[in-house]
Amino acid sequence: MRLLLVEDDAMIGEAVLQVLRAEHYAVDWVRDGAMADAALLGEHYDLVLLDLGLPKRDGLEVLRALRARRATVPVLVATARDAVGDRIAGLDAGADDYVVKPYDIDELLARIRALLRRSAGRGEPVFEHKGVSLNPATREATVQGQPVSLSAREWAVLEPLLARPGAVLSRAQLEEKLYSWKDDISSNAVEVYIHGVRKKLGADLIQTVRGLGYVVPKE
Ligand code: CA
Repeated sequence: MRLLLVEDDAMIGEAVLQVLRAEHYAVDWVRDGAMADAALLGEHYDLVLLDLGLPKRDGLEVLRALRARRATVPVLVATARDAVGDRIAGLDAGADDYVVKPYDIDELLARIRALLRRSAGRGEPVFEHKGVSLNPATREATVQGQPVSLSAREWAVLEPLLARPGAVLSRAQLEEKLYSWKDDISSNAVEVYIHGVRKKLGADLIQTVRGLGYVVPKE
């Protein structure tokens, strides 16, 4: 899953970035509203963590512009503790949820998982399909009940496929889930990680759709 972190405070930004990356999210971090606009216009994200008080362009303006473009990406707004008005304004401008600064990092992560779940049209917190299960909260993967150790990038390509069995994702779409701007992309990276998943979870779990991409078949 690929996240955009919009935060002008260097210490908070650095800390949140590290935690999110440790949770295996691909994260781009921008520090002002204009950069946030540019990132949201140019890239596809699965979720945005948006600070409201930002240089160059206020977070609420960024959010309103995003929704005016009819973008449906989930937005989690971060506001100051006593700013009830900010929270209401944020939700009414199109935010999906909020966290209060200074936020508890575990609560932040749980809210991110909940939003990702809802935006994928799912209610259940664990992905289960044909004997394979992935638990995003604990990062545990099992096949037929047996724990399997997946690398962060194997997880990153498998999760979006397992989240929507039957949906074909192109190599480019899976690459987006893998990398932040600063990472190098080798041309066969997706194939390499798909290969790793197949070795660990079974050759049939992910099928190649020639010319289109990859799919976890429904049946
Ligand atoms: Ca700020």
